[in-house]
Amino acid sequence: MISQPIVDILLQNKAHFLIPAEKVANVQVDNNLNHAFLVLTKVRYAKIPVLANDSKFIGLISLPMITETMLGRDDFDLSQLNQLCVGDVCEKNVPTVENPYDIELILHLLVDNPFLPVVSHEGDFTGIVTRREIMKSMNYLAHNFDQVYPLNESEK
Ligand code: AMP
Repeated sequence: MISQPIVDILLQNKAHFLIPAEKVANVQVDNNLNHAFLVLTKVRYAKIPVLANDSKFIGLISLPMITETMLGRDDFDLSQLNQLCVGDVCEKNVPTVENPYDIELILHLLVDNPFLPVVSHEGDFTGIVTRREIMKSMNYLAHNFDQVYPLNESEK
């Protein structure tokens, strides 16, 4: 359990935790790989969410998941890019969170994931929480804890 004073300081920045769905680059599960390849190259993010047509969260896709399908023995076979769709290659069992302010769970999951999709109980994609925003709060905490909770001389 994280102690409440620490949670309180981390949550001071909570307005910035959730990057809303409309600001998150994504691809649709039935897009062909050509399209996903172009989007990932343009946005320059390592991984982006994959959504169904009704905005339900499906998984994540990265460039390596796409280029893997192009690898022949000695060369690249580009024909797969038009034949396969995002749903054929994306990662589907990825950790997600329902509550973007559940600091305990988020800190735990961000150790191994640069960002976490926020998905409602019904499966709707509502946005992402990034390691970057949480690190900003951690940085604030590290620099300001003793101003909010003054330490004894011996604790400094
Ligand atoms: P950051 O912590 O801001 O560097 O983001 C970490 C990762 O989150 C990026 O590498 C992307 O995979 C993902 N990400 C962050 N912002 C966006 C966005 N606006 N659209 C899609 N993916 C994003």
